[in-house]
Amino acid sequence: MKRFLKIAVWAVGGLTAVAMAAAAGLVAWALWAPVPPVSPETYPWPTGASDAEMEAAARELLAEMSLEEKIAQMGGDGMGRALVSALVRGHFSVVYSGYNRRLNVPPIAFSDGPRGIVVARATAFPVAMARAATWDVELERRVGEVFGREARAAGANYFGGVCINLLRHPSWGRAQETYGEDPWLVGAMGVAVVEGVQRHNVMACAKHFALNSIENSRFQVDVRLDERTLREVYLPHFERVTKAGVASIMSAYNRVRGDYCGHNRYLLTEILRDDWGFQGFVTSDWFWGLRDPVQGVAAGMDVEMPTPSYYSQLPALVREGTVREEDIDLSVLRILRTKLRFLTRPDPMSYPPTLIAAPEHTKLAREVSEQGMVLLRNRGELLPLNVAEISQLGLVGRLLEDENSGDHGSSNVYPPYRVTPAQGLRKYLEGKAEVLSADGSDLTEADRIARQSDVVIAVVGFNCSDEGEYVQLDGGMPRNESEKQAPFGIRGGDRYPLGLKVQDIELIRTLAAANPRTVVVLIGGSAITMEDWEERVPAILMAWYFGMEGGRALPRVLFGDVNPSGKLPVTIPRNESQLPPFDPYSPTVEYGYYHGYTLLDKLGLEPAFPFGFGLSFTRFEYSDLEVATPEVTPSEELLVRVRLTNTGSREGAEVVQLYVGFADSRVDRPVKLLRGFRKLTLAPGSSQLVNFAVPVRDLAWYNPEAGKWEVEAINYTVLVGSSSRNQDLLQAAFRVREEPPDG
Ligand code: BGC
Repeated sequence: MKRFLKIAVWAVGGLTAVAMAAAAGLVAWALWAPVPPVSPETYPWPTGASDAEMEAAARELLAEMSLEEKIAQMGGDGMGRALVSALVRGHFSVVYSGYNRRLNVPPIAFSDGPRGIVVARATAFPVAMARAATWDVELERRVGEVFGREARAAGANYFGGVCINLLRHPSWGRAQETYGEDPWLVGAMGVAVVEGVQRHNVMACAKHFALNSIENSRFQVDVRLDERTLREVYLPHFERVTKAGVASIMSAYNRVRGDYCGHNRYLLTEILRDDWGFQGFVTSDWFWGLRDPVQGVAAGMDVEMPTPSYYSQLPALVREGTVREEDIDLSVLRILRTKLRFLTRPDPMSYPPTLIAAPEHTKLAREVSEQGMVLLRNRGELLPLNVAEISQLGLVGRLLEDENSGDHGSSNVYPPYRVTPAQGLRKYLEGKAEVLSADGSDLTEADRIARQSDVVIAVVGFNCSDEGEYVQLDGGMPRNESEKQAPFGIRGGDRYPLGLKVQDIELIRTLAAANPRTVVVLIGGSAITMEDWEERVPAILMAWYFGMEGGRALPRVLFGDVNPSGKLPVTIPRNESQLPPFDPYSPTVEYGYYHGYTLLDKLGLEPAFPFGFGLSFTRFEYSDLEVATPEVTPSEELLVRVRLTNTGSREGAEVVQLYVGFADSRVDRPVKLLRGFRKLTLAPGSSQLVNFAVPVRDLAWYNPEAGKWEVEAINYTVLVGSSSRNQDLLQAAFRVREEPPDG
């Protein structure tokens, strides 16, 4: 017996030692084994080679590849290393695909995601929705450049963080990853970030193509819609980034008109390539984005990510004649051509690891956070607060001390630090005022703080448990809330109803009743309805998920070091009845032609805060709207100008918005559509003429019978001003006449 016990102890000990050695080996491999090289010097292709030369090189490579080598280009190398890195280092590492050592073919080296690089301790920017609220394409291009620079410094050459799905309904759990409800704004911001990223020779990937805007059911939901809605509402921004040269597109998980997007030939080939001329490659969304290898190849799906679960069957399918090798060749050529073109473009700089979260990048994160905050209400000009008049400041709310930068799914960034609202405000007031704070769970305490304070600030809203990416591990969908799982502790999912939690509402009511100088700071990824409490407070600031530096930005806006200039990229409705229907558990959904401001315009309803709205500490006046081209043809440009004057007493920035109205149209069209915007800064008392040139072809509608875009020869209105609300817009008329016959 004793002997048996001894053997057992030795056996268990031995097995444990072997398991530990294997685990250590795995960790060592994941963290230190050589990775496929991405730097151009490692490859024989000359820097500065032309696209035509790289096309020829790609064709030569293709000719040298065996069938297996070709198919190896079409699937990722798995997530093993990345997962070990997540466990050991606390962040993912690069995911590779398609490195071929024999032939010197560089890999795709992937990093997410929309608010920064996720494969290092990188700069965490405010989420895309907050950046959309800056309406500043130059700023977004600079953010894109940081993504590009940090990607290169972290060893990535492929950035999966250009999320340009249109926000049909603000309950979408991943609303924070995109740029809002309007195709024009989404397209402009998408192009800016793509240009910024690609300036550093990182291949940008725009996602999720297409119609991915419900989270709980994303792996299965079938989106149905008519052709005009598809072309005019849900695809124009994808077309714009394609025409701006985006390297890659990621397909969506959901179905469109019955077909999974990863198998959807209409989307991936007929529209993307045949209509728009896309030259790059398509990757699947991860794990569940492809469900059939034959249909995938036939549709034009080039790379299955992150591992070839289905594409591993391709060699056999080609040999038996079910899949044609010519189709494989088409995909492989697209992949090779894009990789080689990006590899050989001259770099504008070098990319040492010290670039990651470098001070100039984190400073930009703070600037973006400041520019994206939207002042929704400022009754009695309570803001900006004056430090000199405050001896005690109350800070209350669950989210005060939360290192909350949004979703914890694929877009989560792991910065070296995050400044919370409480840290930022305390630091700002150090030596100037006393700060009284509480998490707000005890309303009696909250009431006491509010009474003792000169001003009280409530920081309320949401975090990753309330909204964000949601994963149903079997690739199916939950049928109701209670079926939702929380894999890896991530709950996320769609956020509905759209109002604050009951405890936040009670807190706001308590504070407002105790102190008329109550400021509400809202944290969240899209619209938050406020019907139950909005009228009770004088000041509301929408701060979004504001990134690693947001806590420092917040006091700078509240105390007026920065004059707020953010504008809403999404309508804030009074309540859900002003929105299209939203059911995150339905296996099918019909997307209509109207949502957001176009729906409210059509129904003649006033939202709580309109699309494009945002206050400033100064005042702007619009005057002298003039159409320099009262009659234009479809091939010309509409030239418009307006005078903007800063009539207040502070310098400030304003987003001048241009909409076009279609009242005379013979087809059903929105009352108006955004067709231009410009952000400019004016000193107090100064004034500037703002010019717009709108290509008339941008006024076209998609004629589904003719299968083409058409500009109607009718009277139009141009509307220019500070938001999409009618009383904020000046109007003028113009006419489009038929193109004169040639000659
Ligand atoms: C998300 C993508 C992301 C991918 C890789 C998927 O679950 O939908 O947006 O890029 O994971 O992280």
